[in-house]
This record gives sequence, C-alpha cells and structure tokens, in this order.
Amino acid sequence: MPRNLHGAIMEIEFAGAAREVTGSCHIVRVNGKTVLLDCGLFQGRRSDADAKNRTLPCPTEQIDAVVLSHAHLDHSGRLPFLASHGFAKVIHATNATADLCAIMLADSAHIQESDFAFLSRHGRDVNPPLYGVRDAARAEELMERHGYDEWFDVCSGVRARYVDAGHILGSASVVIEAITGTSVTRVVFSGDIGRAGLPIIRDPVPPSDAADIVIMESTYGNRDHESVATARDHLARVVRETAARGGRILIPAFAVGRTQELVYDLQVLAREKGIPPIPIIIDSPLATAATGVFERNTDVFDHTEEPVRDIEQLFRFAQLTYTSSTAESKALNARVGPMIVIAGSGMAEGGRILHHLLNGASNSRNTILIVGYQAENTLGRRIVERRPVIRVLGNDVELRASVEIINGYSAHADRTELANWLNAVRRTSPKLRTVCLVHGEEDAQEALSGALHAQGYSVKCPALHEKLAL
Ligand SMILES: [Zn+2]
Repeated sequence: MPRNLHGAIMEIEFAGAAREVTGSCHIVRVNGKTVLLDCGLFQGRRSDADAKNRTLPCPTEQIDAVVLSHAHLDHSGRLPFLASHGFAKVIHATNATADLCAIMLADSAHIQESDFAFLSRHGRDVNPPLYGVRDAARAEELMERHGYDEWFDVCSGVRARYVDAGHILGSASVVIEAITGTSVTRVVFSGDIGRAGLPIIRDPVPPSDAADIVIMESTYGNRDHESVATARDHLARVVRETAARGGRILIPAFAVGRTQELVYDLQVLAREKGIPPIPIIIDSPLATAATGVFERNTDVFDHTEEPVRDIEQLFRFAQLTYTSSTAESKALNARVGPMIVIAGSGMAEGGRILHHLLNGASNSRNTILIVGYQAENTLGRRIVERRPVIRVLGNDVELRASVEIINGYSAHADRTELANWLNAVRRTSPKLRTVCLVHGEEDAQEALSGALHAQGYSVKCPALHEKLAL
C-alpha cells in the first residue's frame, strides 16, 4: 500500500452503495486495522439484492469495528448477518440510532422469517431468511452508544466523532481519524445528509475537521425539492378539502421518521385550527414503537423549533389514536365519516395500508396522500402514476380516490443542499484531495460530479469494490 506525504497508510474499499443507493458499506483499512462504515442491506429486485446481501463485505474475523451512521436498513440492515457469521466486536452508534436499530432490525428479521414461512407453505422454493430475530438481538448487544461531538476510540490508532446529519433521529456524519506516528489522516463520511428545517430533528452540521477525503452521498444529486416550509400548508389543504367532502385521507408512510413528522405537523395544524377536528389514526405497530424511541430521545430534538419547546406531548393529542391489534385496524373499515389513516409500508408494498387501500381507493371522496419516494414496481408508484386500476391484495381496485403528492418531507438533501454541505467542509479542509460520491444512481452522480468539478473539486464515483489508497 502506498504511503502518503505524511507517512500515514490508509485504504478505502467501497463495498456497497457504489453507483447505487442501497447497501451502504465502506471498508477503511489503516494501521493494520479494518473498520466498516455502515453495513446496510441491498434492496431492490429480489434476486440481485439477495445475492449481494449474502456476500460478506470481507471475512468477519478481519473486522475490528463497525461505525454506523444511522438506523435506516440500507445502512444498518446487514449487521445481524455479520453477527450470525461470528462478528462479535463493537458496533458504534449514536444513542438514538442504537434505540431505533433495536426495533428496526428486529422488525426486518421478523418480516424475513414470516415471508419465508408463508412462501414455503405455498410451495415456493425460496432462500431462507438472511437472518432471524435472534441475530438481530445479537447485533443490538454489540452496540456501543455515543453522544454527538465526542471523540471515541474505534480501535487502537483510530478514533471517530459523530456530527448531526439532520436526516433522521440519531443520524450522523462520521469523522474518522487515523494517527500514524505524528501524522493524522481524516476521512469525513457524510452518511445520509438531511435538510434544514425538517420537523423535530436538528439541521445538518457539516463537520469542521480538516478532511483529507470526503465520502458523500448523492441520492438527489440531480434535482431540487419542494421547500420544507410549504409541506405543512399543502398537508392542511389536502385534509380540509377531503374532510369537506366527507372522505378519508389515506397516507402510506414509513413508520420511522415520516410518521412522527406528520403527527407533529398535524398537531401544530390542529392547534392552529388549520384542520378540522377529525380522527387521526396511526395504524402501525412499528410506528408506535418508533414513537416511543422518539419520546426517549428528546435531547437530540431541534429545540429552536417552537412546537418542540412549547408542546409537552409532541406525539399525543386529543384527535390522535394509535391502534394496537389487527382487529382494531380492521374495525376502522366500518367507521363512517372523515378521518386520517397513517399506516405502513411507505411504498404500499405491505403492511396495514393495504387493507385501507383495498377498502378506500375506489371511493372518489377519499384522498391517497403520498409523502415519500415511491420506487419503480411498487404499488405506491402505480398510485403516483394514477393508474385507472390498481392491484391490492390480489384484487383489482378502480383508483377513483384523489391522489396528492407532497415532496417537501424528503429527508435527503437536494443538489443545492449537498453542494452547500460540501462547500462548508471544504472551507475547513485545506488539504482536501478527493470527494468520493456514493449512495446515488448513475444519473444523479454524473450530474453532481459535473457540478462539483466545475467548482474545482476532484471527484470520483467509485465502482463496487473499487479501492482508493492514500
Ligand atoms: Zn437514510
């Protein structure tokens, strides 16, 4: 391995989220140690993703530690797989990330186990689950918790610090520092970068340490979003209009993050009388559990937001109910009058939202409100495309409900915000050599790479397993 000018030795291997958006995993080898930044699930077409997920990023006995950026499964979802293959060293995480992983990894394992049982019962020849609930619990036991902005030892000769990435609760950018003799090499890994002004969580903080290399996400490197500020007004209008015609507002939403943001905005609107006093139902056990994690981590909320300061129970108010049992969920179908139902999954690929769509999508008084990205080949995408007939739980349903789309809740920085974040890092990084773009489709990476080149950056878009020596 070549030495750099200061004599430090480091190699970075891009073992996931390389020219794609899932499977985040970067291997840092330095001073004879191997550290993984993230170990996420590859998602997408089942057979391709499954083969990648079953390949370890490197032999587990070589890994000295994992540093996790945040709890989303495309960053954390293969930690139980590592644990099931003998990894028993430390997984570093922020407090809220460790709390969220406890419920999200268990949920992911549970879904894999029950899907496997269901498909096997129906005679399908499918691979066994990647891991089970016990492996998820084992990964959770390996987690060591840290606050933001405190240096911690990753392993000998390597330390790190978490800086708020403002993406989801507990999300962080990571500064990794390797000390060799008297020289220091620093890698800044962005994790997923959020947006200023998102409800509940703080704004992203670009690390101010002098970086030699930046590994940066590029999910929305080719587009700008609707502003965060208009999302709440848009939500209010949809609720008022639908309630006025006696309909229901059905919202497929991710259980962690998006649901809590909607609840927060709905409470603010209810207090301002910006929406009528109709029932609001959170019909998702995972969302209920995630809300509990939010309530235990209020110290990392954005205390500059008025509602965070002034409202004691951000996620509990008179109009709002959390369902518990499946029976309670199904009983909602028999209720009359306008209401708001928020349920998973976020892309309407599974979960309780399907029952509500089966019953409600053909009623022209209702609205299906889309508040998150809908990938190709999902029911959510077909709803966005306003297909005249959609297939729900094996039934053809005429799509007569209104479809409304709010993009302002996106938890990812857009191209302008990504460039601003990087420019801030560059201001404190006189020796910054290269920016490696990860976690983006090729179109997004090409666009962002071009824009950054024009601003004088040296940019790489590493391929899977490409290595960078410094
Ligand atoms: Zn994320």
